[in-house]
Amino acid sequence: MRKYFMAAAALTLIMTTTVLTSCTNDDDPVINEVVTDDKPFPYDSEIDESVRPGDDFYRYALGKWLDSDDPSPSMAKQIKMANQQLVVNAMNTSTEPLMVQLRNLVDEAMADDSRNVALLRERLQMLEQVETAEQMYDAFAKLHQWGYCPLVRVTPLIPEGRIIFNIMGTGGKTMEMDTVMAFKDQNKLTEKVTAYCQTLSLLGYNDERISEIAKNAEAVEKVELGAYLEQFEYLRRPEFLTRAAADDEDKAVRVAVGMLMGLDREALENDLIMAVTPGIMQLMAQLMNAAEHPELVPVFRDYMIYNIISQDVYCVPRLTGKTDRADILNNLLHYNKYFKYRVMTESFGRDKIYKQQCLEILERMRQTFIQRVEALDWMSDATKAEARKKAESMLFYMGYPDTWNDALTPIVDGDCLLAAATQLRQQATKVITEMVNKKLNDVGWDYWGTANSFVADNAFHMKSANALIILPAWITKPRFNNELSEATLYASACTFSHEFCHGFDDGGAQYDADGKESDWWAPADKQAFQQKQQALAALYSQLEFYPGRMANGLQTLSEDMADYGGVELALDCYKQRLIEQGFRDEQLDEQIKKFYLSYAEVWKYETERSTEQLEKAYGNDSHSVPHNRINGMMRLQDDWYRLYDVKPTDKLYVAPEDRVKIW
Ligand SMILES: [Zn+2]
Repeated sequence: MRKYFMAAAALTLIMTTTVLTSCTNDDDPVINEVVTDDKPFPYDSEIDESVRPGDDFYRYALGKWLDSDDPSPSMAKQIKMANQQLVVNAMNTSTEPLMVQLRNLVDEAMADDSRNVALLRERLQMLEQVETAEQMYDAFAKLHQWGYCPLVRVTPLIPEGRIIFNIMGTGGKTMEMDTVMAFKDQNKLTEKVTAYCQTLSLLGYNDERISEIAKNAEAVEKVELGAYLEQFEYLRRPEFLTRAAADDEDKAVRVAVGMLMGLDREALENDLIMAVTPGIMQLMAQLMNAAEHPELVPVFRDYMIYNIISQDVYCVPRLTGKTDRADILNNLLHYNKYFKYRVMTESFGRDKIYKQQCLEILERMRQTFIQRVEALDWMSDATKAEARKKAESMLFYMGYPDTWNDALTPIVDGDCLLAAATQLRQQATKVITEMVNKKLNDVGWDYWGTANSFVADNAFHMKSANALIILPAWITKPRFNNELSEATLYASACTFSHEFCHGFDDGGAQYDADGKESDWWAPADKQAFQQKQQALAALYSQLEFYPGRMANGLQTLSEDMADYGGVELALDCYKQRLIEQGFRDEQLDEQIKKFYLSYAEVWKYETERSTEQLEKAYGNDSHSVPHNRINGMMRLQDDWYRLYDVKPTDKLYVAPEDRVKIW
C-alpha cells in the first residue's frame, strides 16, 4: 500500500503541474495569476435564497428542488434506475462464455421445457415419498447437495480478519434483500407462498394437496423469515462476532445440521461455523426434533417441495408464463455473486468506474488523517502511535479486482436449464465453503465479490478486518463525474473518508490494526475521546428529525462521527489540492462553497420531500436523516460560519468553543 501511494503521489504531482501550466498565460507566466475553476458546477441551481444558510443549510442548498412540483431524480435514484437497466443489458449482451451458454439454455427451455419439467418432477417425487424422519433428513441433505439450501445456508463472516461461516436463514430464497423485507407483512408472505404453490397445479397436483403444501410451507417459512430478518439485527452488533462458541446444546444441533448440509466436520467442531441467532437455532433444533415428533415430518417435507418450486420455477417458463430472458438469468445467478460481479463490471466497462482516481484520493486521505492525528492536542503520543498503525494498515478495496479469479467462474455442462441452475447453486456454495479459515487479506476480492452486488450503491467499513470497500456503483457517473468541478468529486469522496473514519468511531476505535477487539487507548485519551462523543451526540440531539420530533444523537453517534471525520478529511484534502493548483483567497473560498453545496447534493434524497416518509423513517436507521447529515455537519465547520456569515442568532449556530473537534 505504501509503495502504491508513492506512485499515486507522483502521478498527482504530474497532474497538478499540467493544471498549473494550462492556467498560465502562454509564454509569460505571471506569479500572482488568479486561478479559477472553469468546469461546470450545476449544484447551485437549487439554492433557495429566501432561507438563511445559518438557519437550515439543507433547505438553503436544495430548497428549489424540495419545493418543486416536478423534481429531477436525486443521484441515488438515478443510479438505482440506471442499475436496473444495467442488469438487463449485462444479462442480454455479456460475451462471457458462460453467459452465452446460459442464454442458449434459456432459449431452449422457452422453445421446449420438457427436459426441465422431467427433472423437476423427479425431484418432487423424491420428496413426495418422504414418510419417516430418516427419509426427511436424506432429502434435506440431498437438497443441500443440489444447492437449494432449505432452511439454512452458509455465508462468510470475518471476525479478527479470518473468514468463518455463519449459518443463516435462507429467507426469501433467490430474492434480493429489499424484496425479502416486503414479506415482513404476513399477508404478503401468505400471498407469496400460495403463488409459488399454485404453480404445482400445472404439474398435475390437485387443489387439496396444493393447499396442504402451502399451509405447511407457510408455517416453516414464517419462522424462517423471522430468523432471517433477526440476523440483520445481530449483524449490527459487533459483540456477536467475538462471542465465544455457543453452549454445548447449541453446538450439538449446529454440528448435526451442518453435517446434513454437507459442511466440513472439522470446521464444525472447531467453531469455524456458527449459527448466530436464536431464531435460527430454534429452526435447526426443530428440524433435529423431527425424529421424536413424527408430525413434523410432513411439515418439513412440504416446505421442501415449496423450497424447490420457488427456486426452480424460473427454469420452467410454462410455470411462470414469464419469458423475460434477462430476468431468468438474473434469478439463476443470484447466488453466484462473484461471477455476476465480474459480468457486470466488464459489461459496464472498467473505464467508466473511476477506480484509480478514487484510490489515489483515498490514499491521500489516509496520509492526511495520519498528519491530523499527529497534530492533535488532546491525545498522547502512545495512543497516536496506535492510531497511526491502524490507519497505515487499513485495507482498501476500491470498485473491482485488478484481475478476476477464474477459479470462481462456475462450470456448467448439464443438458437443460434446470440442471445448469443446480450446478450454479452447487458451485456458489462451494466458493463460500472454500474460503473458510482463510485470512481476508489473502482472499480479499473473492470475498467482497461474493458478499456484494455490483449494483449496490454503497460502501462499507469492516472493523473486524480493518478494511473498507467502495462498491463500483458509488464511483461512477453521475456521482463521480470528471466533467464537473472537482469540488463535486471531493464531496462524493466524503464517503471514502466516512468509511475510513468508521475505523475510529465509538465502536471502531475498540478494534486494533488487525481487526481484533482491543483497548489501545491510554486511559486519559479514552476519557477525552468519550467526552467528545457525548458532546457530538448532544449537538445532533438539538436537531429535528422531522418537524416536532427531535433527533436522537446517541442512536446515530457512530455514523455522525464517521460523517464528521469524513467531511473534515475530504475537505482538508481538497483544500490541499486547491492550494497546490494555485487557488487563493476568494477563489479558494468559492471552491469550498462549491464543496459544501455538492455535499448537500449527495444527500439529496426523495424522502426529504415528504414529512410522512420522514416520520416512517424515524428510529429505523443508524444514520442521521439526510438534512441532519448536512446541517449537523455544517455547524461544526469554522469555514462555513465565515463563508455564509452565520450569526449567533441563526438556528444552527454553535459557539466556537462548543464546535466539537475530534480528528
Ligand atoms: Zn457509515
